[in-house]
Amino acid sequence: MSEWTDIIDAVSAHVTLLKELGEKSIALRPDTLAGFDEPTVTDANDAAAASTPADSTKQATAQSASPAPAPVIGGKVEPKVDPNATREQNLASLAQQIDACACCVLRSNRTKSVPGQGNPNSPDVMFIGEAPGADEDQQGLAFVGRAGQFLTKMIEAMGYWREDVFIANICKCRPPGNRTPMPNEMMTCFPFLREQIKIIQPKTIVLLGNVAAKALLDTQTGITRLQGQWTSYEGIPVMPTYHPSYVIRFGEGTDDSYQVKRKVWHALLAVLERLGKKPPARKKKEGN
Ligand code: SF4
Repeated sequence: MSEWTDIIDAVSAHVTLLKELGEKSIALRPDTLAGFDEPTVTDANDAAAASTPADSTKQATAQSASPAPAPVIGGKVEPKVDPNATREQNLASLAQQIDACACCVLRSNRTKSVPGQGNPNSPDVMFIGEAPGADEDQQGLAFVGRAGQFLTKMIEAMGYWREDVFIANICKCRPPGNRTPMPNEMMTCFPFLREQIKIIQPKTIVLLGNVAAKALLDTQTGITRLQGQWTSYEGIPVMPTYHPSYVIRFGEGTDDSYQVKRKVWHALLAVLERLGKKPPARKKKEGN
């Protein structure tokens, strides 16, 4: 398995370098990628020992008759949306298009695509982060790891359930080693998010972290200055704040932790105020 990972990392690094040097696309031979999503056999000898002669004949016939279609890394994301379809249908179709997409190098390393999930019917809030991490990559769902648990707390503190809001990322595939997605990867993937926002029509957007804020707002201003300040995207009010993984980095009970959580909470309160809502009353501690 580690040998397989090493190969993927090496290929990914090579392709990234080619892209940065100006290559627009790279045609890959189908036989190099057939079945690369799920490498169930890692040792050629094991495979040979496990298969019968009849199996070998069947496999050889199948391979020569219809080689598996291979994704070609590179190209332009062109999401297709049906104006006569429902929101749910268009989002499901976009999720399929995202899953089939191989327009950037992130396709090579991901396990599952992560289109995003939640309420598609003009929710009060759409949360947008930068890219899936390891847990998200395994489950195909946005914000389900440790940072996701903190995001759940933020959502519930506002008086919503996760199902009430929509949660998505700028990039739909996990960058290797959880590195920050590169500008060209975010730019390539962005049309998917743009279409999701058009379909969902959220009442407000909360941008989570520096990378998401810079990407959606097309700005070089950092999150420290953007945090807590209203701005907009395509007429939709946008509130940037810190990424949950940044917030939990400070742990519990420290001064820094308190300060950063306080700033995030104020940003969320501003969102509620804009929506004409109040946070749910907190339960009083027993004895008070
Ligand atoms: S990150 Fe986006 S553009 Fe890149 S392969 Fe995945 S879906 Fe396609």
